[in-house]
Amino acid sequence: MQNKGYSREWLDKLIYNSDIVSTISRYLTLTRKGNTYWACCPFHHEKTPSFAVNQQGQFYHCFGCGASGNVISFVEKMEGTDFIDTVKMLAGWAGMEVPEFHGDEDYLKRRKHRELLQNICRDSAIYYHNVLKSKDGAVGLNYLLGRGVDSKTITKLGLGYSNSWQGLVNYLLKKGYKRQDLIDAGVCDEKNNRIYDAMAERVVFPVIDHNGKVVGFSGRAIKNDSFAKYKNTKATEIFNKSSNIYCINLLRKARLEKNYAILVEGQMDVVALQQAGFSNAIATMGTAFNKNHVQTLSRFVDAVVVCFDGDNAGQKAIARSLEPLGEEGFEIKVLSLPEKLDPDEFIKKYGSEAYQKLIDNAMPVYEFEINYEASKHNLADKDEIPKFVDACIGILSTIPKESEREIYIKLVAKISGVPRESILRQLMFSKNKAVTSTETPQVAGQTKNYKAEQFVLASILHKKPWALSVDIEDFVNNNLKNLYKYLLANNFPKVSKLFEDFDVENSTDIKAIINYDFSKIAKPEEEFSGCLAKMQLDSLLRRQEAVGLEIVNCTNEQMKISLLNEANEISKKIIEIKTLLNKVG
Ligand SMILES: [Zn+2]
Repeated sequence: MQNKGYSREWLDKLIYNSDIVSTISRYLTLTRKGNTYWACCPFHHEKTPSFAVNQQGQFYHCFGCGASGNVISFVEKMEGTDFIDTVKMLAGWAGMEVPEFHGDEDYLKRRKHRELLQNICRDSAIYYHNVLKSKDGAVGLNYLLGRGVDSKTITKLGLGYSNSWQGLVNYLLKKGYKRQDLIDAGVCDEKNNRIYDAMAERVVFPVIDHNGKVVGFSGRAIKNDSFAKYKNTKATEIFNKSSNIYCINLLRKARLEKNYAILVEGQMDVVALQQAGFSNAIATMGTAFNKNHVQTLSRFVDAVVVCFDGDNAGQKAIARSLEPLGEEGFEIKVLSLPEKLDPDEFIKKYGSEAYQKLIDNAMPVYEFEINYEASKHNLADKDEIPKFVDACIGILSTIPKESEREIYIKLVAKISGVPRESILRQLMFSKNKAVTSTETPQVAGQTKNYKAEQFVLASILHKKPWALSVDIEDFVNNNLKNLYKYLLANNFPKVSKLFEDFDVENSTDIKAIINYDFSKIAKPEEEFSGCLAKMQLDSLLRRQEAVGLEIVNCTNEQMKISLLNEANEISKKIIEIKTLLNKVG
């Protein structure tokens, strides 16, 4: 819709002048092979490039995650900007003047409103910062200086102070903003028909998004009798405390040097680390670290080190809650500071080099948990060893990937002195054996629709008359998925070729497909469509969940609309398939 806001000719010229290869090269290192340029995809994590840029056609396509589009949608996705801002940015790079936008009125209105809220937040941040530096800000300034924050850091992070309930209100009204806009921007609250500064009598930390726009605030009470030590801006059109990240703007700048983020517990911890030179230090807005945060971070870095204050029993629980957040290629490590110190205290006592060393030695979540168990048991005492191993079995049984599990089985063996084989046997017999993670299990036969996938794939491999082609994403079991990928890539070769390309003898999954016994299937046509429907239903449900998350996290109106449309389409298809499955029985 919005594309109509500019003439087709002008947009074509913009796309032509912004040559997709040189624009994408601003973000990624492209390698040319023939007519195509390749890179590791910025929209999903991978180690071998499947992101292709076609210069002739001026489009990109990722063979891994399916992302595709032109130069405008690429920059839009990378910057998280909306259509108009993206076009303006590209035009700036290409040295073109941007004509006036004549398009969707509603879109323009919403966009204007967001801009207004951003301006109010920006002006509020300036106000708070100026108060802090004036004589009215002495209380706030003394608090920060008392915590060891220097003036350079105060300026760098734009810290501020609100000394009164009405100062900000008067300042903003005088600037011409309307009363309701101040409430919409979240900088003012309303009670008994009076509005007042939401951050009154607090030291104020402006929250800046990755594009450098102030979107909200976090305020720390100075008086101890205040009902809440920390307070965040309420949810607005541009701010949400469960997805915004404090100092993401600085992380984005730092990512060229450091490919990971340091996640600490509170704003003051971030301030201390930033001051000590850790420009990749961030914090959530007081909420638990969640999938939204991971999605945002993974656009800028490959890993996060979660830093716990001191030693407390809650750490293991927190570590456990982090496990499912790890994704292919995105690593979550854990670090626990000694002597009940917080990052600020630790650096003051031991220096930033020592802190960096701790970061370098941060442990993957599972290793952290195993070590935590080890610290709880006296392993010099023979009676304690089985208890330790029992506790570790519980951890090991939740590791979905066999290769990864193997690493930690060895670690438990090393710490306890119990042979690896014994631990493995105990693990096999443990009741917890069921794989509880949502990640794709690698163990043969354990995925939900394994039998259905097996029959479908065997039918395709043996070129049975009832076999139809299938979407690769409908496979859950990785071994079967890879085999199907191979069949596609090799134009459905003869079965004999598999023996050249695979170690069939040692691959249970592939062997079962090759030797599939079709005689046990009475009505193969019906069986095939039933199996396929089950697989498609599952795949749609997975996609539905993913899209739901994307919608929650989406700040781009245009993108949100297309996501909502997709969600709609998915729901329709799910109903269709469910009806079909009910008929089949
Ligand atoms: Zn991709």
